[in-house]
Amino acid sequence: MATFKAMVVEKTETGTQAGLADFDEANLMDGDVTVAVEYSTLNYKDGLAITGKSPVVRRFPMIAGVDFVGTVTSSSHPDWRPGDKVICNGWGLGETHLGAYAEIARVKGDWLVRLPASMSPRVAMAIGTAGYTAMLSLIALERHGLTPANGPVVVTGAAGGVGSVAVALLAQRGYSVAAVTGRPEQADYLKSLGATEILERAALTGPVKMLAKERFAGGIDSVGSTTLANLLSMTRYGGAVAACGLAGGMELPTSVAPFILRGVCLYGIDSVMCPLPKRQEAWKRLETELDRHKLAEMTEEIALTELPEQAVAILAGQVRGRIVVKIG
Ligand code: NDP
Repeated sequence: MATFKAMVVEKTETGTQAGLADFDEANLMDGDVTVAVEYSTLNYKDGLAITGKSPVVRRFPMIAGVDFVGTVTSSSHPDWRPGDKVICNGWGLGETHLGAYAEIARVKGDWLVRLPASMSPRVAMAIGTAGYTAMLSLIALERHGLTPANGPVVVTGAAGGVGSVAVALLAQRGYSVAAVTGRPEQADYLKSLGATEILERAALTGPVKMLAKERFAGGIDSVGSTTLANLLSMTRYGGAVAACGLAGGMELPTSVAPFILRGVCLYGIDSVMCPLPKRQEAWKRLETELDRHKLAEMTEEIALTELPEQAVAILAGQVRGRIVVKIG
């Protein structure tokens, strides 16, 4: 029986354990498209799955990895033929459906987005779920009506994956971007991505005022908790914040004051179950609106074997920008 290399999470008596293993192709789950995976990435959620720090894996054994790019090898789905280059983000990959850290993936054709023509597979995964989520956040803010003329915008967790792409995308659109980071040594890096102001993380982690001085017309937040609460209280009248992450915690110690006294809007961003047309819109825009030089600057490549070590690093907030995982 044919086997392939995969990063497999197993249940143990004390929790879970992840390691490189030979996975039997016969044990792949149902799906109408089979893909030879070329690249995946390391996202925060992958860190949680590999270390077992949060129960994101809900089926065992599980192949970790929430996103991949690769080439279709067989398909009974009307939209896909062998040889097509495809991207898959979310849909339970690495959580409930066997995931991306594997030489072979079998998924539903309805989950797939075509790799944009001018994008190499590696570039697609340098963007990965983090970058696609940053674009979904930008789309939400622009649907709200935000433009660069409304004033400065803020990105939290700025030196992380979502944050780095968000800074680059907003700067490219002409926004004045304040980057919030707990790593002041990354100030030059963030400025190279287009940040105009660097704010210490501590500026948003203090006690939350119901309303603070109005500073930002909008924001993209990958941190949550007190940071998001402070951000809401600093958002200008009629402004909007896109909340997409929880790197600082799941809770949200805010009040209704920003919403009912300043008309501030809070948009929730979910990349996992996001409908296909919105994904296609996001990837289409990512093809043209993200500076490839900046993307290269924020990207590092690792092998499957390095995942356990890097999973610990991403949860510790030590990964800068994006990590691409070379598979096939
Ligand atoms: P990263 O680890 O790359 O980025 C997170 C960044 O947050 C860190 O680099 C750090 O930035 C900052 N940070 C970390 N810990 C803390 C803390 N305790 N307090 C304040 N800031 C902190 O992860 P990703 O970019 O991959 O993901 C970011 C978040 O977005 C995660 O919570 C992830 O689960 C979520 N996410 C959600 C998606 C969705 O569909 N909604 C999709 C993708 C990601 P710095 O050092 O600059 O301060």
